[in-house]
Amino acid sequence: MVNSMSIRTRLILAFAVLLALLFAVAAVSLQRLEVLTATTQDIVNFQARRAQLAQRINQHAQAEAIILLNLLQTSGREERVKLYAALDEEIAASGKAVSDLDMTMLSAEVQGEIDHISDLRQRYGVLLQETVELIEIEGTPKARAYFEDRTHKVLRTLLFDTQALEDQLQQMMQSELEQLKLAADQARQRVIWLAFAALVIGVWLAWFIARGIVVPVRSAVSLARGIAAGHYDLDVPQGQRGEIGALLRALRTMRDSIASREAKILRLAYVDPLTDLPNRTRFTELFDERPAQQNGALVLLDINRFAAINNALGHAVGDQLLCQIARRIQQALGASDLVAHFWADQYALLLPDADRVHAAAQVQHIIDTLRAPIMLEGQRLDIEVSAGVALYHPGSARLHDLLRCASQALTLAKRHHDPMAFVADMQGDVPPAQLSLIGEMREALAQGEFVIYYQPKLNLAQHQITAAEALIRWRHPLKSMIPPMQFIPFAEQTGFIREITPWVVRQVIADAAQWQRRGLSVVASANLSTLDLLSHALVQDIQQCATQAGLLPAQLCLEITESALMDQPELALQHLHELSVFGFKLSIDDYGTGQSSLAYVKTLPVNELKIDRAFVTGVDHTPKNAAIVRSTLLLCRELGLSVVAEGAETAEELAWLTANQCDLVQGYVVAKPMPLNEFLTWVEKYNNPDTCGTDL
Ligand code: C2E
Ligand code: MG
Ligand code: MG
Repeated sequence: MVNSMSIRTRLILAFAVLLALLFAVAAVSLQRLEVLTATTQDIVNFQARRAQLAQRINQHAQAEAIILLNLLQTSGREERVKLYAALDEEIAASGKAVSDLDMTMLSAEVQGEIDHISDLRQRYGVLLQETVELIEIEGTPKARAYFEDRTHKVLRTLLFDTQALEDQLQQMMQSELEQLKLAADQARQRVIWLAFAALVIGVWLAWFIARGIVVPVRSAVSLARGIAAGHYDLDVPQGQRGEIGALLRALRTMRDSIASREAKILRLAYVDPLTDLPNRTRFTELFDERPAQQNGALVLLDINRFAAINNALGHAVGDQLLCQIARRIQQALGASDLVAHFWADQYALLLPDADRVHAAAQVQHIIDTLRAPIMLEGQRLDIEVSAGVALYHPGSARLHDLLRCASQALTLAKRHHDPMAFVADMQGDVPPAQLSLIGEMREALAQGEFVIYYQPKLNLAQHQITAAEALIRWRHPLKSMIPPMQFIPFAEQTGFIREITPWVVRQVIADAAQWQRRGLSVVASANLSTLDLLSHALVQDIQQCATQAGLLPAQLCLEITESALMDQPELALQHLHELSVFGFKLSIDDYGTGQSSLAYVKTLPVNELKIDRAFVTGVDHTPKNAAIVRSTLLLCRELGLSVVAEGAETAEELAWLTANQCDLVQGYVVAKPMPLNEFLTWVEKYNNPDTCGTDL
């Protein structure tokens, strides 16, 4: 019951009890003090006075006796008269003392004594009077005899009895004093006991109240600490009332609010709000928490043509599509697998304990699942996705390295229009050669580590090298020569291609202008990427550079892939038209690997079409490749485009291409890409076999 009282009530009660105890102590002390004071007063006022009066009676009686004795020995009348006067005074004083004593209210026992003394005093007075009369009438001898016979006896009795009374009164006073002392002792003891009781009760109350406050406050403190440490499942004691109850209720409310707010914050921090999948941050955490000895695969997966779907059907449909795809991936995954939505149309998958075979099967299963048509707002969507897979091994790569590798694989998959591509298995750490390239690219450009190799294009009709493609290489000081496919895709993703392409183009224009000045009729080709085609500044830069170098525009060819036109095709087309109008040649690179090749052939102001190596390889003995290449040759002839067959490696392929009147061949069968000086020597030799050694 006490526990249910509020702290205020408890404190009021406790202090009330303490005050009552103190009051009792004070009251008892005061009362005892009063009794003592009254008794003392009584002693001072009566007892002492009575003893004094008794003593005085005795003294007067003695004085009277002495005067009487003097009278008995005095013969002269005049001298006796003086003594009579003194005697009268003493008698009067003695009588007054007796009557004073009689007036003090004494106990019956003492009153009898007083009465006896009073009688004696009267008898003595009479005898004294008679003795004095005898002195005057019959002379001193008779008076002396009378005195000794009668007066003296009474005097002796009077003196003795007054002395006895005085002693008795003294004794009474003494006994009263002793009683007083006893009462004082008792009062002191009572006060001490009361004070002690007050002290004990006070201590008990203090302990009890402190305990009643401290215990719940302590549990509130540990609860608050628990909440601060994030333990929101801690029980908050129920049933407390008053201030502590209010405090605990406030803590419970605080715990619940913090828990729900933290859950919201965690959700915002870790969950993608659109798809409800873990986001990149959560994926990173879960990846870092994986067992150190785990193998597995990290997959980056994105939707082909998602931007086009978004543009065509609107962002609301795009969002629904992303959610549906998230659900399907989740359903297709194994229990221990993980999927996260990174951004836009990109998902990341973690397949723990997956080797290459298992990962390929799992990714293929997901791709197949996603291929099933999706109905959104009455529209049927057939979705294609691409996946880049990076395998990891115990103690191997950090996540961002794996992501970079998977992203590289994804780019490859898209480039080759494969549903998935694997990065070469990474044993131990990912080779630094692949990891730090992006970070080093800027420095490399500044330090002149990029070089341009030229690969000749052989004109089959003229048997002359009439063109060459500029292909970039990175002469890394530590990692030997790095091929473009290891850094160009990253440069394209990071936007650094915007710095590489102007450098390449300037370099190629300078080289081509030099060839032109030396009379070497070789058209130089440079590759452009998607981002380049969106930059009007680059278009102007190329024109300006060619003009400054004095290069005939027709001596420069710009190669673009179909996929380069995917983003903002209208802007890219506008820039291509500007370049074409200026007089530069345009070439469609990797023809046949894109998705709408014929549409581009029709729309683009191109001069050249490069059939991808995929169709050229084995063209001499692969009927399908042969059919494709033959029909492309026919088509280009009709459209007035020259055709370059890329990647011819064998003499048979070359013979087949020659027989089918292909215009140009670029491939190892002719020559591999070479550094500028080597290329110039090689071209000089090839084009002028009879005049070797001409200095270009
Ligand atoms: P691409 O423009 O299609 O270049 C042709 C690629 O095929 C070159 O690879 C070339 O070495 C290779 N090749 C030529 N003949 C044969 C052959 O007979 N067999 C085989 N197996 N390969 C052959 P490279 O130099 O590794 O370049 C790869 C790609 O990198 C290029 O493909 C191009 O897309 C890109 N690239 C190269 N340099 C640049 C550049 O300066 N800027 C841009 N944006 N991309 C570049
Ligand atoms: Mg090319
Ligand atoms: Mg190509």
